[in-house]
Amino acid sequence: MFQGTLLVKNVAEDMLKALRVPAEKLGRHGLESIKERVVFLEELLSPLPEPEVLKNALLTGFTEVLGIEPIPSQLTDREREIYNELIKLFSSDEWIYKIDNPSSRKGTLTGVSRADGVVRAAAHVEVDKKLVTSVQFWGDFFVTPKRIIPDLEASLKFIPANPKKAREKVDEFFVKNKFDFIGVSPKNFADALSMAIEKIELVRRGLTFEETNNIMFANIDLRRIEEYDFEYFLFPYCSKLVGCAWRHDVDCPMCGQCSVGEGYEIALASGLKPMTITSFEHLVQTHRWLRKKGVKGYIGSCCEEFFVKHKDEFDGSGLNIILVRIDSATCYELSQAKAAYRGEFESQTELNLKLIRKTLGLIRPRKSITAE
Ligand code: SF4
Ligand code: SF4
Repeated sequence: MFQGTLLVKNVAEDMLKALRVPAEKLGRHGLESIKERVVFLEELLSPLPEPEVLKNALLTGFTEVLGIEPIPSQLTDREREIYNELIKLFSSDEWIYKIDNPSSRKGTLTGVSRADGVVRAAAHVEVDKKLVTSVQFWGDFFVTPKRIIPDLEASLKFIPANPKKAREKVDEFFVKNKFDFIGVSPKNFADALSMAIEKIELVRRGLTFEETNNIMFANIDLRRIEEYDFEYFLFPYCSKLVGCAWRHDVDCPMCGQCSVGEGYEIALASGLKPMTITSFEHLVQTHRWLRKKGVKGYIGSCCEEFFVKHKDEFDGSGLNIILVRIDSATCYELSQAKAAYRGEFESQTELNLKLIRKTLGLIRPRKSITAE
């Protein structure tokens, strides 16, 4: 059976959103670079032929290249019977959310490590058996020989779901095998994998796999998440209503017109002091300010792209940090990362309030604060 895709109309933006392409895969020029690397038929042919003309052209091409004789037909009765049977399964929630079904306690956890390049790891785990059944790595790096990554992945099948042991396995593999990397080092692979496996603690505490993968953290041992002292909740300005006079202010009077107002209320009810971060520079200053005040840690919200890009800043902040991923298209996906860096991203993102609530339920409770 052959299957392929002909890109007809340029819907690169929708395509990126649907596929959730990681920002670092887009490179420096975001959407523009994708548009340069992928060509759509409408950019090559004008006027664009009707769908029937395209289908006939494909059929002629297949006939010539494959040396076959196409025979138009409908599904047979037996095929239709099988289709009717299987469509129920494939359109059921049970199938669609199968890998993220907390009751099966099997699913995929992801981790990321950033040095010069970015390495991501996905670990398929069985929580009850404390087992990693398979691992995949990907990212922006060059490696020779090419088979070193598949070999590494093969060596990590059915290992204990223990971050320390997984790290040892990765180290052992790179000691035994010859390789040459550009952009990353073996440590990146060990870091990304152990981060993914560490997240199993959040599944044990009742988060779904999808929710768990929307949590990012720095300087936190998730096995002891209840022991940390979090004092602040940092919100991103991009989740505030565009045009609101408070969008670029650290405060929010909670008028209720955007998710940040509700976020402030939730934070206060959990005893956390809410504030808004208005740019990357402001985040760096805030880290310094919090450290000076003797604050130990904070909960926050941002997009994953921001976390990955500035991972060194979070790791080096000297603060215990848990971040809940925002719930919508980011400035990276909309090619506005540079403007966002300066605090000038003029679209609105949505906070994941449900996950924020669940996350706050995992940490040590504080006395609620009344808004001034
Ligand atoms: S809740 Fe109201 S005041 Fe606060 S950021 Fe949103 S729109 Fe502005
Ligand atoms: S990088 Fe962009 S989308 Fe992400 S938190 Fe900052 S402004 Fe929002």
